[in-house]
Amino acid sequence: MLILAGVLIAFILVALYTRRHRATRNCRWRKDATGDKGNLRMYRCVTCGAEAFTANPGPPDTCKSTLRPPPL
Ligand SMILES: [Zn+2]
Repeated sequence: MLILAGVLIAFILVALYTRRHRATRNCRWRKDATGDKGNLRMYRCVTCGAEAFTANPGPPDTCKSTLRPPPL
């Protein structure tokens, strides 16, 4: 029973790590023209759901989820 609990905790830690890793590294931005504001073009991250505005050509290279401290 103790081993089972240990395996479960390890699995949760791995799941949390991979999710955080994926959220900060594999953001996939999709252009959303409906949210454009003037010269700012809106992009939506399909991986973590973050929204970002940019005036530069191309999608943003960072995710807004990195601005928040990672949950423990
Ligand atoms: Zn993202």
